[in-house]
Amino acid sequence: MEDFRPTKYKLRCVATGRVFEDDGLVLEDRQCNTPSLIRTEYEVKCIDIRSDDSGIYKFCDWLPVRRTLKGSAAPVTYKSEGLAAHLGLDNLYITFSGYFPEKGAEMTTCSFKETEAYSVCGRFDESAGRILVVASAGNTARAFAKVCSENNIPLLLSVPEDNLDALWFEEPLNDCVKLIAAQKGGDYFDAIHLSNVALKSGRFIAEGGAKNVARRDGMATTVLSAAAFIGRIPDYYFQAVGSGTGAIAAWEAAMRLEADGRFGPNRMKLMVSQNAPFVPMYDAWRADSRHMLPYDDHRARRDAGIIDAKVLSNRRPPYGLAGGLYDALKESGGDFFVSTNAALRRASKLFEQTEGIDIHHAAAVAVDSLIQAVKQGKVGREDVVMLNVTGGGERRYKAGRQMWYLKPSIVFPLTASETDIIGRTEALFVQ
Ligand SMILES: *Cc1c(COP(=O)(O)O)cnc(C)c1O
Repeated sequence: MEDFRPTKYKLRCVATGRVFEDDGLVLEDRQCNTPSLIRTEYEVKCIDIRSDDSGIYKFCDWLPVRRTLKGSAAPVTYKSEGLAAHLGLDNLYITFSGYFPEKGAEMTTCSFKETEAYSVCGRFDESAGRILVVASAGNTARAFAKVCSENNIPLLLSVPEDNLDALWFEEPLNDCVKLIAAQKGGDYFDAIHLSNVALKSGRFIAEGGAKNVARRDGMATTVLSAAAFIGRIPDYYFQAVGSGTGAIAAWEAAMRLEADGRFGPNRMKLMVSQNAPFVPMYDAWRADSRHMLPYDDHRARRDAGIIDAKVLSNRRPPYGLAGGLYDALKESGGDFFVSTNAALRRASKLFEQTEGIDIHHAAAVAVDSLIQAVKQGKVGREDVVMLNVTGGGERRYKAGRQMWYLKPSIVFPLTASETDIIGRTEALFVQ
C-alpha cells in the first residue's frame, strides 16, 4: 500500500477503563485483576475507507497495524437476490469472506480467519525477536501460514495430526513456517496443549486469540465492509460462533461506526449460532448465565467429534469476561440459535442454489439460523440484515488446482515430556 502511515490509537481495559499504550504484543492490562478484554481506541473517529487496491488495509484507519503486508483481500458485501427472495427479505446483505471471484472476493484460504491474520501480523512487533505461535484445528492455521509465508515472518503452528488435510495451499510454503502436530487421536485441545508447552520457552509468544486486539479489529472489517456498502449499521448480524471472537468484534465495529456519525444509530442485534450437539455457549446463554456451565471433558470431545462445523468446537471461549460475548449479546439485545448437521446441510445446499457458491459448514449454520429467525418472525421483511458468510468458495478455489500440503516437522505423542517439546520446537528455528 502506498503512502501508508500507521493510525494512532490507545488501548483501553474494558473492566477498569484504564487507558495505556500498545507495544505490539500485549494481550491484556496487567494492572487489571478481573478477567477482561482490552480494546483499541482510534484517534480517527471518522473512517476513511480507501478505494484503492489495498486489500484489507483499506480499513487501516481502524486496524492497529504498524505496517501493511502483501497479498491481502478484504471481505466483500453485496445485496442478496436469490436467498433474499427465497426468504422474503427485502434488505438481505451478504458479507463474504472467501473465494467468490464473480463478487470480487479473493481470500484464497477461503475464510474470515484471513482478516485476523493480516491484522495480527501487521501489528506484531518482530523486532522483539519472538516467534509467533498459533494453535488451530484448520482455518486459522491456513490463514496465518499463508500470511507469514508470503511475508517471511517466522511462525510456529500446532495442529492435530488428524486435521492435516486442512493445510492445503496452492504453492509450497516458505521455510519460515514450521508445523508441529499432536499425534493421531489427539484433537484441538491437544494441539493447544502442545503450543502452551512450547510457549514456556522465551523464544515464542502467543498470538493470543480473542485477546489480541488486532485479531478482533481484523474480523471487524466484515461489519465495516457491510456498513460501507449499505450506508448504515445493519439491524441484525448473523454469524455462527466458535469462540465468539467474530461476534464481539462485530459489536465493537458497530459501536465505532455509531461514533463515526455517518452510519446511523447502533441498533444491531447479534444473532449467533452453534452446531448441535456442541452448544456450550448456547446453554449458558439460555440459562442466563455469565459463566459457562460445567461441560464434562469426555462429552465435550464426543460432541466436538459429531458436529460438521468443527471450527465451532471451542471449549474455552471468551464468553463471560468483561467485554466478552455475554456482554456483547446483552448490550445488543441479541439472540442465540442452534442448528443440527441435517439443518446446516440443507442450508448449505439452499445457499449454493440461490447464491451460486459453496460455503463452509460454519457459514451454513449462520444461514440456517437466519432461516429460523425468519420463520419465527424474529426478523421482518424490511429489516436490514447482514449475513456474515465466514467461509466459502473452497470447492470453487480448489477446482482445477493442484494443492500442496504442509507437513509437520515433528509429530508429538500425547505423552511427550515438556523438555522434549520445548527443546525440539526451539531447535526448529535454529538456522
Ligand atoms: C473460526 C470460524 C468461525 C467462528 O468464529 P469465532 O470468531 O471463533 O466465533 C465461523 N466460521 C468460520 C468459517 C470459521 O473459520
